[in-house]
Amino acid sequence: MAKKFYITTAIDYANAPLHLGHALEKIQTDVLARYHRLLGEEVFFLTGSDENAQKNVEAAKEKGISVKELVDKNVLLFKKAIKLLNISNDDFIRTTDKKRHWPGVAKLWKECEKAGDVYKKSYKGLYCIGCEAFLTARDLKDGLCPEHLTPPERVSEENYFFRLSKYQKKLENLIEQEKLKIIPEKRKNEVLSFIKSGLEDFSISRLVKRTKGWGIPVPGDKEQIIYVWFDALSNYITALGYGSENETKFAKYWPADIHIIGKGVSRFHAIYWPAILLSAGIELPEKIFIHGYLTVNGQKISKSLGNIIDPIELVKKYGTDPVRYFLLREFSPFTDGDFTYKKFEERYNSDLAKGLGNLVGRVLTMAEKVQYETGSTECESEIKDEIKRVKKEYKKTFEEFKFNETLIAIWELISFCDRYIEKKRPWEEKNKKAITNLLFALSEISQLLKPFLPETSKTISNQLGIKLEEKPWKFKIKKEKALFPRLK
Ligand SMILES: [Zn+2]
Repeated sequence: MAKKFYITTAIDYANAPLHLGHALEKIQTDVLARYHRLLGEEVFFLTGSDENAQKNVEAAKEKGISVKELVDKNVLLFKKAIKLLNISNDDFIRTTDKKRHWPGVAKLWKECEKAGDVYKKSYKGLYCIGCEAFLTARDLKDGLCPEHLTPPERVSEENYFFRLSKYQKKLENLIEQEKLKIIPEKRKNEVLSFIKSGLEDFSISRLVKRTKGWGIPVPGDKEQIIYVWFDALSNYITALGYGSENETKFAKYWPADIHIIGKGVSRFHAIYWPAILLSAGIELPEKIFIHGYLTVNGQKISKSLGNIIDPIELVKKYGTDPVRYFLLREFSPFTDGDFTYKKFEERYNSDLAKGLGNLVGRVLTMAEKVQYETGSTECESEIKDEIKRVKKEYKKTFEEFKFNETLIAIWELISFCDRYIEKKRPWEEKNKKAITNLLFALSEISQLLKPFLPETSKTISNQLGIKLEEKPWKFKIKKEKALFPRLK
């Protein structure tokens, strides 16, 4: 039986359309999902939308429309962007889905209650709507939420609390022993130091009147709505049917092999979520991968700065694969990365037009002119050794989630082929064997590109007249229009 692989993105607030930072996470997740499918694993790739948040209520009020209208409209845009970015998700979960999502959230709540981890108490605190979380004095910077640079709201009410403090030692051990593995190391250490500084119980409900009735009701209490993070995190299991009549998918795919998230939500995923699962007696996810943020022109992406880039517009202008390529190649996924149109166009021209596009065009033009050998599975050792070296580097960096380095390795093979052409002069009749070797190398490049640039990979193998999975490759060149025409 094939190994299963369950991978998720965080679900995005449906208060606004996706921006390029959201696209980054979807693309990273997609690359991993495609890679694991190529390994022959049974992949389930989930993404979705967080629709019960208070900020959705606020955004709808601002626009003068109903919350339902707002989230429906944005979810349509989410799905459009996902399609244009060629994201291969198997499912999309909406947290307003009363049939698929709500029963699982209620079940999870009741399991935690049964474990004795839910209790009621009066509470005064500072609430940041942007974070959808209570902040403590030590979280604030100059009285402001460091994430949103806005003052938190003073809230005083009676809520249900989750006994997080009970799980402090257990979480610390699980993360330290990497039973729950947090990637990269730097983020793992941040999470551990937060745990060691002391975990306090946290509120997992809100008064109905403060949420304006929007959200999932607390089982057995009409006055309270389930806290949006408790609700949102549950998506990872409700999408698999947890709490429904049919839990087959849940039994098959849970625990998640990996959750892909941004650094701003690491506390919720690496502390709250595993604690809730421990309480409910559910297995923990294996890994949490935490990526950095995308900035635009060196600044945080924000509506007030007016630097939001719509991935839909970017794809329409440049194409899907150039957008995927830039976001995967330009910076390490572990650090913050910056987008500027200048950097984007430079990267496009140097790597895609002059690098990959030029090589493909050059080799195919030569192959059309010379009688090349078809059906070669053997190529000479010089090029074979380089392919072998690159494949090794590819696997290693992929498994370390260093997507930018994996792409660098592929581009080393591209440069190698350019140098090989200069050296072998395959346009001379006596050297035409070199063309078959180059066609072979292009096939390998097409194969290696598959998880990253799926359309480009297909275009290359189509022009070579081969199916990548059907070996030995028998080339039948059909040259089409150039890949990645140069941008002016
Ligand atoms: Zn905040």
